[in-house]
Amino acid sequence: MNSELEIIKPKIIECTKCELSKTRIKSVPGKGNFLADVMFIGEAPGKNEDKTGEPFVGIAGQRLTQALENAGMTRESVYITNVVKCRPPKNRVPTISEREACGNYLQKEIAIIKPKIICILGNTAFNSILGGSEITKYRGKIVKKDKQFYFLTVHPAATIYNQELITVLKDDIIKLFNLIRELKNDKEISIDIDYTT
Ligand code: URA
Ligand code: SF4
Repeated sequence: MNSELEIIKPKIIECTKCELSKTRIKSVPGKGNFLADVMFIGEAPGKNEDKTGEPFVGIAGQRLTQALENAGMTRESVYITNVVKCRPPKNRVPTISEREACGNYLQKEIAIIKPKIICILGNTAFNSILGGSEITKYRGKIVKKDKQFYFLTVHPAATIYNQELITVLKDDIIKLFNLIRELKNDKEISIDIDYTT
């Protein structure tokens, strides 16, 4: 593992910066390839992640794995993390102050991995990172902000009760890896939303 990531991982594991530290079983640091071209950002650990200390290992995680494999990618080749690293009680949405308390870890992960593109999974990540809302309206779009590319898609958990969204997620992930190929070949990609001022 990358040495800088090795430094933040134990900090996350021992962290008590917010109230979620009182109810979690395990903190869940990001996981994956530190040389990844893409970093996936979800909302927060759920029950299975809280038990195992690993991101996206429950049903939502299986959906994400399926969508990656469908695009010819493996989990090992990407980096996967969450906006907050500890499970909120009853899987409620993390509060603004919890997201802010945890934000420094996410910023460090981004600074270390330097992904070519960040894939935002669902509304909480969209809202926390880009101030957005209505992910179903904006999914499939490419955002550029402060020289960083983002790709927006639905949260894999949303596909559990909505079969149509499985296809949406799979198609979006294919589009994402096509974009990455273009970025690696130094091709211009067309940006849907440009926040750069
Ligand atoms: N949902 C998330 O947002 N993240 C996980 O790690 C698991 C489920
Ligand atoms: Fe620390 Fe983040 Fe866990 Fe809060 S959610 S205790 S800030 S690691």
